[in-house]
Amino acid sequence: MRNFLREIKAASELDPELPATEFSWSLSRHERFRRCERGYFLHYYFAQGGWDRYADSLVHMAYAAKKSLSYAWWLGEVTNRVLEEAVDRVRFLAPGARLRRFRNCFEDYLLEEFDHLDSVRLFDFPLPAEDLLRKAQFDAAGAFRMLVSSSVFGMLLRQQRSNFLHRNEEYEAYCDGVRIWFDPGLRWEEPGTRCSLRILYSQYEEESCRQAADLFSWYSRERFGSGNTLSFFLARDGEEWKIFSLSGHAGSAEELMRESMVRMKRKIRPGGTVLLSDFPEIGLPEVCRECRFVQVCSLLREL
Ligand code: SF4
Repeated sequence: MRNFLREIKAASELDPELPATEFSWSLSRHERFRRCERGYFLHYYFAQGGWDRYADSLVHMAYAAKKSLSYAWWLGEVTNRVLEEAVDRVRFLAPGARLRRFRNCFEDYLLEEFDHLDSVRLFDFPLPAEDLLRKAQFDAAGAFRMLVSSSVFGMLLRQQRSNFLHRNEEYEAYCDGVRIWFDPGLRWEEPGTRCSLRILYSQYEEESCRQAADLFSWYSRERFGSGNTLSFFLARDGEEWKIFSLSGHAGSAEELMRESMVRMKRKIRPGGTVLLSDFPEIGLPEVCRECRFVQVCSLLREL
């Protein structure tokens, strides 16, 4: 029987030194670097150019892994999008009609999104599309129940201003000349405070939520002149859902970004190149088991 992984490895002619790509920063980049430097290297440097059909076979493989999604990330993106659409649709209705209409819109839009499950590629959910549909419906329904029973939902349904959702707001800002990427999720304005809401399907992590809240405050300060913000999170905590808010501190975000950027930039060699061996593997089987690069990583180890 053919062993495709061996064939990919045999066909590979890799140079261990690569040009460093343009540097930008995001919370997910920070998180990747913190979790495993080898995974960070594969994601931001090694996989570059893997879209080209003449690229090295291992680079192709790394690029495909980079582009695959996790279940929690995919469902979070879907429901955040659906939530935004549904809130936007009901805001000009009479207050008494909004909840019912919101429920219908949310369900309809979600079903439309779930129509395309066959094309969804998740690295941590290899089961058939029917199983994915069942699980996604169950999880989205849990988030929805928690949301409509919360006070933040009342805030959203009360709004009627035409521009109340900042849907097209350009979230572009720079720290020490480096572009910072950030998606705060659904966002709107209460008197004197910018608010955001994100639905998270991964297990709740206090530190990541705190960092996201600080970054939202920093963004608001840089872009709109006030860092007065409130970030709402609807998140899994064990089997339960919970919703909570955090006010952000722009200064803490700035500190985090500076420290994190220094550590990442130290890995770039004077000639503007990066070297595989400068990015160690984490060596924790429980982390590797959940990593999208597990195959590429083990093939590289054997080269
Ligand atoms: S498989 Fe493990 S060591 Fe390799 S990139 Fe992933 S987390 Fe890091």
